[in-house]
Amino acid sequence: MILLGPPGAGKGTQAASLVEEYGVVHLSTGDILRDAVANGTELGKQAKAYMDAGDLVPDELVIGVIRERLAREDIREQGVLLDGFPRTIAQAEALGEVMGELELGELVVLNISVADEVLIERLSGRRMCDSCEAIFRLDRDGVDVGDECPKCGAGKIYQRSDDQPEAIAERLRTYHEKTAPLIGYYSQRGLLIDVDGSGTPDEVHRLVMGRLS
Ligand code: AMP
Repeated sequence: MILLGPPGAGKGTQAASLVEEYGVVHLSTGDILRDAVANGTELGKQAKAYMDAGDLVPDELVIGVIRERLAREDIREQGVLLDGFPRTIAQAEALGEVMGELELGELVVLNISVADEVLIERLSGRRMCDSCEAIFRLDRDGVDVGDECPKCGAGKIYQRSDDQPEAIAERLRTYHEKTAPLIGYYSQRGLLIDVDGSGTPDEVHRLVMGRLS
């Protein structure tokens, strides 16, 4: 399953519920890249500047990561939820090829739609745990930078460097230019399920489950 949607649509939050519901492997290219940056790996060094600017990391790098990860046995056994991939038509085409080579079954594409004004408000108030990657909202959860994570107790809360105003604006521009065309791409192939993501996480989860079932 692919989770498609602009930054701040709630992909990460819905992914956590879907993974619990279906027992599939959660594959977030954003989480993989942030880990790589934090650990100072070669991939992280190459990706950091793009991420901080709110740009997409080059297709070859991200496709390489996904190709390697999809080949592992747990994906075949459990299925996979792709969160934040593909983000360009070239990535979607590469994914189709990799799925064919690995003989992975069918795709379902879930698109979460949210208006830009709502996204800007959500992204600027977003906070995350540096250990379990749980997502919080300053206004809703009262959790701020430096606090202990209320979910896992082990991590500290931080604000993503790309959740700053200039990077948010750039990410939304990038989304409309490069990622939104995927809605048409998958819709033409009859694979798209579209869900309104403007409600609370629980409301959106109910809509998603209704459509998937
Ligand atoms: P996310 O956590 O999905 O919002 O991703 C954070 C950042 O990682 C994005 O703004 C991009 O810089 C980079 N990134 C994540 N997934 C991809 C992808 N599929 N293609 C290119 N860049 C990506």
